[in-house]
Amino acid sequence: MNISVDTPKYKNPCFPLVTRFILSVFFFVSFTANVYLQSVAPPFIDSRMYNIIDKISADRIEKDIRTLAGFGTRHTMSDTTSDTRGIGAARRWIKKEMETISSACNNCLEVKYHKGLVKAGESRRIPEDTWIVNVMAIQRGKQFPNKYIIMSGDIDSRISDPLNYTDDSPGANDNASGMAGVLEAARVLSKYDFSCSVIYVGLSGEEQGLYGGKFLAKDAKADRWEILGVLNNDMIGNISGIDGVVDNTTFRVFSEPNPPNPTEQDQIWNRFYGGEVDGPSRQLARYVDMMTDKYTTNLKAKMIYRLDRFGRGGHHRPFNDEGFPGVRIMETHENYNQQHQDIRTEDGIKYGDVIEAVNFDYAAKLTGVNAICLAGIAWAPAAPTLVMIGGAVKPSTRLKWDPVNDKELMGYKIYWRDTTSPQWQYSKYVGMDTDVTLKNVVIDNYLFGVTAVGKNGNESIVVYPKTLIPRRN
Ligand SMILES: [Zn+2]
Repeated sequence: MNISVDTPKYKNPCFPLVTRFILSVFFFVSFTANVYLQSVAPPFIDSRMYNIIDKISADRIEKDIRTLAGFGTRHTMSDTTSDTRGIGAARRWIKKEMETISSACNNCLEVKYHKGLVKAGESRRIPEDTWIVNVMAIQRGKQFPNKYIIMSGDIDSRISDPLNYTDDSPGANDNASGMAGVLEAARVLSKYDFSCSVIYVGLSGEEQGLYGGKFLAKDAKADRWEILGVLNNDMIGNISGIDGVVDNTTFRVFSEPNPPNPTEQDQIWNRFYGGEVDGPSRQLARYVDMMTDKYTTNLKAKMIYRLDRFGRGGHHRPFNDEGFPGVRIMETHENYNQQHQDIRTEDGIKYGDVIEAVNFDYAAKLTGVNAICLAGIAWAPAAPTLVMIGGAVKPSTRLKWDPVNDKELMGYKIYWRDTTSPQWQYSKYVGMDTDVTLKNVVIDNYLFGVTAVGKNGNESIVVYPKTLIPRRN
């Protein structure tokens, strides 16, 4: 072992052998590590998700819904000066609640109002100048502060006459339930650090024309936010439907197939290469469905292939209008006697959006789904970009994309499915390869997508290819 110090190293006949040995060991180890990393799949689950679901409290959600309903009315044009009644009191309470959550996590949330003015006459539902005031809390991402995943609920409420801003309008399910879910998700998730920013937001002016969402989406676009998705929660607490069905085991995820303003190139792509049902909001809906299947045993997502209910609206839409992915999460069975109704009894039927009709355990389950989706997306590596596809008149399909620069990256996964299938059916983990040929998978018969997979098992939302691999490439 003792190499004599006065023997020059290059004269030691043994040394080249030692060096060679060390070098070959080094190459062997790095080669095997590489092969290992490429062949070993990332963890299938992230066990933190179970802790997150466990921590969501139906009791706290109940308490918050009661508080919100207790402001009498939260109509957009209701009193803003009282401390006990009207939308002013409600938004101040929400802001204070977010600040309390923030002080429990070392001020990890940036809590603020976000405002926009609607001028008298701009809408039939806003007869006088009205400030639309959202309340939001930003939990800043550690690696990608300008990438956002957003959970929204609504602050405002209404009764039969959309202009009635004085009478009682508890809006317990529509939408104190969604608002309470947002607050509870903030409580639980603020205990964790994320790569991307998470926003918890109460939007206002929903019932008067989706104003709060419009203002926020426009500002987000002007400020060049990269929004990975908006999970808009609107009515997440009703299990006893107008159709007579009582169901606390399913919920709905509404998503539009594609952004509403396709370019000519988008239209050509969709027509000749496929993509009619593969826009970013639809991929987000598939993500919510996938996470629900993976981490909950007593809940199923029903993907609804449309923007929203038939002819009706919600606050994800203004984000979609600006080109951001966004979905609506809500109960499966609505009860119209308890939506937008004056509180009354008529022919023995009770009308009104009152607290008695809200199921807090169900609202907690849906909040749990939101929370694991926010966490999963905010923990996932950045999604692959410039995803290209090729393989016409060939026995195989080829996908190629730009490498993702993210220290959490473990590799990539290719997904494909039958053209008629709503959800991804097949997948292959391909390690760090960014140019992959799927042998004997004929491109004509499937639709394809790619994700980036993190060392923690979380995956980016599926990216659908929108470019052809150039022939000479
Ligand atoms: Zn409503």
